[in-house]
Amino acid sequence: MARVYAVASAKGGVGKTTTTANLGTTLAMAGHDVVVVDGDLGMPNLAGALGVDPDGATLHDVLTGEAAVEAAVYEGPAGLSVLPGSNALEAFATANAKELEPVVSALEASYDIVIIDTGAGLSDDTFVPLKLADEVVLVSTTERESLGDTEKTRQLAERIGADVVGVVLTRVNQSNPNADVVASLLDAGVIAVVPEDPAIREALSTQVPVVARSPDSIAAAGYRALAEALTGKP
Ligand code: ADP
Ligand code: MG
Repeated sequence: MARVYAVASAKGGVGKTTTTANLGTTLAMAGHDVVVVDGDLGMPNLAGALGVDPDGATLHDVLTGEAAVEAAVYEGPAGLSVLPGSNALEAFATANAKELEPVVSALEASYDIVIIDTGAGLSDDTFVPLKLADEVVLVSTTERESLGDTEKTRQLAERIGADVVGVVLTRVNQSNPNADVVASLLDAGVIAVVPEDPAIREALSTQVPVVARSPDSIAAAGYRALAEALTGKP
């Protein structure tokens, strides 16, 4: 049976998509059969982070019943499968996150690991993946605002009975990890720390995830530690 992860945090720009792309690539590099799903239906940018340029069907077409799941899956780095979203405004208007359940069920039958990237906020884009996930991976920077929004997401997950595995702290400035502040604002344990690293921006501009483009970078090491924390293997 596949494991389904949702990568979530109510705040935008904290590193959810970067985390999904790099976690998925790391696990694919380790030989797992992995698919990443762009569950951010309003602002899908997971494909871009993985160098995938969907020239046909997308998740939006699958959600509206216009395409089969397999038709919207593309190959990313290291054999990672990618189910991208559409950037067309009209696609957002017609797709409904509530239709995600059969899509995720179909993927569970074909892959070992399904990772769903989610949008900011607490709308259905986030709510539905949290409900479908076996484990929720929260993502936050160490800023007070981000930690507060992430705590809200944790509470939502708790309310709907989703299992929160812990928090990935991203963009951490090593001179200021704020460990006490994190613990006081967030009722979930830290499972990995990804430092602020210019290699992430360089990776994004070349559309190759940092774990594949710059495996020796500090950010790549953080993402490998996350993969290890989740699967129990290096
Ligand atoms: P979200 O999906 O939560 O909105 P993204 O993953 O798109 O966030 O990241 C937002 C921005 O932060 C991107 O421009 C990305 O390059 C940058 N970023 C993410 N993680 C890091 C990091 N560890 N170091 C430097 N920049 C980062
Ligand atoms: Mg995102």
